[in-house]
Parts: sequence; structure tokens; C-alpha cells
Amino acid sequence: MTSLKHKEYPNFVTHLECSLTGEKYEAGIPQGLSKAGRPLLVRYDLDKIASAITKEEIEGREGGFWRYREFLPVTKSENVIALGETTTPLMQLPTMASRLNVNSERLIVKDEGRLPTGSFKARGLALAVAMAKEFGLQHLAMPTNGNAGAAMAAYASHAGLKTTIFCPDDTPEINISEIELQGASVYKVNGLINDCGKIVGDGKEITGWFDVSTLKEPYRIEGKKTMGLEIAEQMNWKLPDVIFYPTGGGTGLIGMWKAFDELEAIGWIGSKRPRMVAVQATGCAPIVKAFEEGKEHAPVWENAYTAAAGIRVPVAVGDFLILRAVRDSGGFAVAIPDDEIFEARDEVAREDGVLLCPEGAATFAAYKRALEEGSIKPNETAILYNCATGLKYPMPKVENTIDRFKPIDYNSLIEK
Ligand SMILES: *Cc1c(COP(=O)(O)O)cnc(C)c1O
Repeated sequence: MTSLKHKEYPNFVTHLECSLTGEKYEAGIPQGLSKAGRPLLVRYDLDKIASAITKEEIEGREGGFWRYREFLPVTKSENVIALGETTTPLMQLPTMASRLNVNSERLIVKDEGRLPTGSFKARGLALAVAMAKEFGLQHLAMPTNGNAGAAMAAYASHAGLKTTIFCPDDTPEINISEIELQGASVYKVNGLINDCGKIVGDGKEITGWFDVSTLKEPYRIEGKKTMGLEIAEQMNWKLPDVIFYPTGGGTGLIGMWKAFDELEAIGWIGSKRPRMVAVQATGCAPIVKAFEEGKEHAPVWENAYTAAAGIRVPVAVGDFLILRAVRDSGGFAVAIPDDEIFEARDEVAREDGVLLCPEGAATFAAYKRALEEGSIKPNETAILYNCATGLKYPMPKVENTIDRFKPIDYNSLIEK
């Protein structure tokens, strides 16, 4: 059991703020979008955080992302829901690095598949569900491409909250099953994630459920923010040169950007930022299109398709926040076709023994391309986000068989 659960920590939240207009909102009650229809961001008294903790204290703690409690909105420790969160490892891909003529210390995968429910959605949903518990909410609903639903189901069931979840009917089967098995009511919808989101929104009044859609409540992003805190801590409070992030709703990218600002404000890091790279799939690339066209918002991408379900998000309510972070950081946005995503997954698994999820594989494909095109240099340190365990996705069939009643041709096994 994490000790964080039983110890009281001070809370430093001052208020919520509209990410578009800066208008202030009260923090101690359930909130959705701002009046302008945009995400609310949590603001803290950073000077007080600076005097309340040290890097060394944080480094000495356990409990995965819950160790950043001073940077998080939960006020009562009894509302912390612990399912075995861990610090996710930074891993090298030595064979890939040597093929690309890169020092293997420069090419790093952050493997988020080690978190509860097998994806980084655990970070966001742990916080959203903890806050729902704090506010006494009893019924949560969301649209999902799979992983968010699984994380919400697990954390909410553990906390004794009811959940209703809607997913596109071609969501990976394993995700739909794990959601149901972890206590949610899950429905397959003949549409995309934004169509599922509309069902959640339209049903709010009749059902009384609380909408936990990406960025439509203020706390999932605070959970995802811990990726930025964790990267900084793991790299000894020096940030990498580039971060490749598979971008759907963009919560993680926006969250890390927010984390870096908060860390600079309390004096733990300087003003240097990584270049943030938003990676999408060619079949669903609204952010890439808006980036290339110099636009501030990204309209709905029609007929979205990619087998990388986590980044099949045709429209993002935080589009302008993603685009700002990418531009302000000097980063870029890139779309990768599905066949290149799966080639990358297969190559990394075969050669380096690391089974990436397709979304994570997209970041490796994007890294390779960026290196070729010169938009990053071989001596720059790059972090690639592997957001989920590769085990949740369809894998190639194995055709080899052995008939144990017949003589075995061992020589043919040597050649394989
Ligand atoms: C949700 C998800 C993403 C996209 O994350 P956002 O922060 O919403 O952009 C990428 N990959 C996987 C596996 C996901 O589950």
C-alpha cells in the first residue's frame, strides 16, 4: 500500500481558470467546461508549493504519480485511489539506435504500458475519479476509444462509483471486455468518439451522470501533467530536447507543457523546453492539418480512420492548447500512415524486444522521419511516448506447428 494514502498533505489549489479567456472559476465544486465552452485549468499557489517541498523529498517517495501530491488537486488523502501506480521506465532501443546512427542514450521510450489498466489513461482517470469522489459524485460517464474507459472503470469501481461508457463499435475487442469486466456498463455505438461524446452530453440532464470526457472536466489533465513532472525528475531535472507524443485529445501534451511551466515557476527547472511533436495518423490528422495551415483551431476531421485507436480523435476541444504548445516550443506536427505505424511496431518488437502499442509505434516512425528530414539531430535526446501496453492490440497470427508424433526436422529449426 502506498503510504501517501494515509498521510495528510497540504493542498495548494487557488482556483480554476478558462484556458481561452482567463476567467476565474471556483475550485471546490464539480465543474465542466468554461462558459466559453473551453477547458478549465487548475491553478495553484506556486510560491507556497515552492516552500512546502523539495526535489529530494519527492525523489524519496513511492506511489508512482501520487508522489506529486503537492502539485495535484486532491484535498483529502482518503480520496486517493491506489491501484499500484509505478514510475514508468525509460527504455533504450539499442538496435534501432545503431541502425539510425544515434547514440542509444539519445533515443528513449517512456513505457506507460506499465501503469494500472495498461495505459497512461490511468494517470488522468485516477485524478478525475478521486476528485469525483471528493465532490460526492456517484455516476460518471464518458466516450472512449478504449483505454480511458478501462482506466475509469477500474478506478471508479475501486472507489465504489457507478460508470457508463460509450465506445465506437470497432474499438479493440479486448478494451470493451476489460471495461465491462471492471464493473462499468459499456455500450458499442455505430459512430466515432465524438458521436459517443454527444450521447454523454445529451444524456446528462436525464441521467444525472457527470461527463468525464477528455478536457471537459478539469482534472484528467492534472493527472496527465504528472508525465511532465516524472520526466523532469527521471532526467535529473533537465528536460529532453524533443518529446514525440501520439496526439488524440492532446491531454498529455498540454499537461506536460503545464507541468514544465509550474516547475519553472517554483525554480526546479530553467526556461529551456523540449520541442513538442504532435504525432497523428494520416487517416485522422486534424492537428497536423491546422499546424501546417497556421490555424489556431482544428475543425472536425471527416471519415477518420486509423487502427491506432487511441489517436482516432476527429476533433479536440483543447485543439488551440495543443497547437500553442507545439508552436511555442518550436516543435512540429506529423502524420504517419497506418502501414508505416505497423512496420515500426513490428521492427521494434522483433529487433529490440519492446512491444509498442500502435500509437507508440507511430512516435518511432515519426522519430525516424524527423531524423531523415533533419528536423531533429542525432545528438538530441528524444523521448517517445509508448502510451499503452502492446498486448491490448491485434497481433500477427503464428502459423508454425509441430506434429509431435512425426520425426522433427531439427535442422530446419536452426535456419528459422
Ligand atoms: C488516449 C490515448 C492516446 C492519446 O492521448 P491524448 O493525451 O488524449 O492525446 C494515445 N495513445 C493511446 C494508447 C491512448 O490510449
